[in-house]
Amino acid sequence: MLSNAEIGIDLGTANILIYSKSKGILLNEPSVVAYNTETKNVVAVGKEAKEMVGKTPRNIIPVRPLRDGVIADYDMTAQMLKELLKKVSKKSGLSMRKPTVVICTPSGSTSVERRAIHNAVKSYGAKHVHLIEEPIAAAIGADLPVDEPIANVVVDIGGGTSEVAIISFGGVVSCKSIRTGGDVMDEEIIQYVRKAYNVLIGERTAEQIKMEIGYALIDHPEETMEVRGRDMVTGLPKTIELKSTEIQQALKESLDQLLETIRATLEECPPELSGDIVDHGVILTGGGSLLNGMQEWLSDEISVPVHMAPSPLESVAIGTGRSLKMIQKLQKASK
Ligand code: ADP
Ligand code: MG
Repeated sequence: MLSNAEIGIDLGTANILIYSKSKGILLNEPSVVAYNTETKNVVAVGKEAKEMVGKTPRNIIPVRPLRDGVIADYDMTAQMLKELLKKVSKKSGLSMRKPTVVICTPSGSTSVERRAIHNAVKSYGAKHVHLIEEPIAAAIGADLPVDEPIANVVVDIGGGTSEVAIISFGGVVSCKSIRTGGDVMDEEIIQYVRKAYNVLIGERTAEQIKMEIGYALIDHPEETMEVRGRDMVTGLPKTIELKSTEIQQALKESLDQLLETIRATLEECPPELSGDIVDHGVILTGGGSLLNGMQEWLSDEISVPVHMAPSPLESVAIGTGRSLKMIQKLQKASK
C-alpha cells in the first residue's frame, strides 16, 4: 500500500476524474450530486446521480454544481468531491491517507473558490494540495512539451466551458474562455426539436443525439436516429426521426462561436511564437472535441494543423497527475 499517494484531480464541469501516476485513472464520473431537498442530505454522486437526472421524485434534486465553469454551489462541490475520494480509496485499495494532490479547477473559478476547493481537499486529509491551470494540465496530459520555449495551442472543449490557450515555457501566454461547450450544444438540440417538431426531449436524450448523429460543419453521408419525447400538443409520448443534417444546423451557432474564439486567440499570438503554431498546430482535447468531424472541420477553417489529444476526456486528469514534478519548475517560470 502506498502511504503517500500522489493523485491528480480534474474537477470538470461535466466529469470528475482522479488519476494516480502508479495506477492510472482511478475514477471517472459525472460531476453530478443528488440531494434531498428536505434533509439536505446527499443521496447519490457521480454516475448514480446522473442517471437520476430528469427522473427523480420531487424531493430529490440532481444538480451539477460546476455546470457553467464556476463553482455555483460550493457545499455541494465539496461534498461531491469528498464522496468520490472516499469511493476511490475504497475501490483502489490505494491509501488516501495524506496524499499529495494536484487539482485542476475550472478556469472561471475565482481565487476565493480555488482557495475553498483547496481547503476542502486539505480537510479530507491531503498532505499537500497544489492547484494547476487547466490548459497547462491539458497540454501535459496530451504529451506536449510545455516547459520548452515552443508555443503550444490547446483547445479544450468541455461541458460548461471551452478554453483556447497558447502555452510557452510552462506558462499561459494568452487564453480565452467561453461558456459554450457540450451543454450549450445539448440545449441547442432541445430547442431545435421543440421548434421543428413540437416535441420536448430531455437533456440526456439531447446528449445522445449529439454523440450519435451530431456533426461539426462538414459534408457527411446523412444519418438518422429515432428519438422519443413528449408531444407538446397532445401531451403524449411520441417517436420522431431526426436527420444528422438538421442537428448539424442546430449546432451551427455554438460551433461558430468556438471557431471565433480560436481565431481571436491565434490573432493575439506574439509574432515570435506564430511560426511554432504553423509548425506544430493546435491540439484538441475535452469531450466536445469528440464531436464527429470536429478535427476535419477546424483543420479546414484555420490554416494550421489540428491534432487530437491521445485521450481527450482524460488529458487534464493525466496532466494533473503527471505535473507534480513539473510544478515547481512551472511556478518558477510563471513568476
Ligand atoms: P469538463 O472538462 O467540462 O468536465 P469533458 O471534457 O469531460 O468536460 O467533456 C464533457 C462534454 O463532452 C459533454 O458535454 C459531453 O456531452 C461531450 N462529449 C463526450 N463525448 C462526446 C462525443 N463523442 N461527441 C460529442 N460530444 C461528446
Ligand atoms: Mg475539462
